[in-house]
Amino acid sequence: QAKVEGRGKFCFFDARTQDAISKRITIHTDLKSPAVRQQLFLEYQPIIDLRTGKPIAMEALVRWQHPVRGVINPTDFISIAEDSGFINVIGKHVIDMTCRSAALMTPNLEFAINLSPRQLRDEMLPDKISEVLRKNDIDGRRISFEITETCLLDVGGNSLGLLDKIRALGCRIVLDDFGTGYSSFRPLHNYDFDRIKIAQALLDDVFLSPSRQIILETVVAMGQRIGIDMIAEGVETEQQAALLRSLDCPFAQGFWFSRPISDTQLIREYGVANTL
Ligand code: C2E
Ligand code: MG
Ligand code: MG
Ligand code: MG
Repeated sequence: QAKVEGRGKFCFFDARTQDAISKRITIHTDLKSPAVRQQLFLEYQPIIDLRTGKPIAMEALVRWQHPVRGVINPTDFISIAEDSGFINVIGKHVIDMTCRSAALMTPNLEFAINLSPRQLRDEMLPDKISEVLRKNDIDGRRISFEITETCLLDVGGNSLGLLDKIRALGCRIVLDDFGTGYSSFRPLHNYDFDRIKIAQALLDDVFLSPSRQIILETVVAMGQRIGIDMIAEGVETEQQAALLRSLDCPFAQGFWFSRPISDTQLIREYGVANTL
């Protein structure tokens, strides 16, 4: 309706907004197709140990090879999948694909998987994870699950129980994007995370003002004092990497070290056959 009347008379949305809405609608429809599972694939972005310069883990990032639209990034479909409940199927598939890859890699390489709030409302999630680990013969200690603060806001007390069950499998629970969103310290009160990822926003323009640098330094120092390993996300320059090293931040991730890489590249560089 807005499309018909909106053009000349009451222009509720500009063309870009209209585009975005129709895109959302088609994505929502297309996500329901049974073909989607075959169209999803993963890229892997290394998490670097700043002391050695070597990767300790690979974060699995999902992409959707859409038959018409080409490759769609997770920011354009994860929230839609979350609203429609489809995220549980996608999420399970991501866990499957990641563990299948992990089984082919050198065993000292860890993997990180993103979880969305709705997945944490699935009581069966810990059992599903346990089954996938068993099937692929993967030590749970090789797998981290990254959740954002919204995962803890959205769901009631039982999500914490769920996290504990996942952790009982040996897996780490990591707080993603710390320092963005609502950004209170509450998530840190509510759960005893194994690691914290410092949001890219805290690194952006860090050299433009002394206060930004102090804020970053303080967050890294907080991790050190609590005894939680910090991972700085979105490192794009050598200067940022050097700053993090000087602060003794243990881990980092970002385009400076590596963009997300394909499955093939992962196997070529970290496949078990290459390290024997
Ligand atoms: P995230 O987990 O915080 O992942 C980091 C995002 O930042 C990734 O975008 C990554 O490609 C991008 N990135 C990494 N280094 C840099 C950098 O140096 N500069 C810049 N500008 N960007 C960088 P991507 O792959 O588009 O993923 C976006 C978000 O989608 C992720 O944020 C995560 O929240 C979500 N996501 C991705 N895969 C999955 C998944 O399998 N399940 C769920 N539930 N969410 C996922
Ligand atoms: Mg993440
Ligand atoms: Mg993040
Ligand atoms: Mg993010």
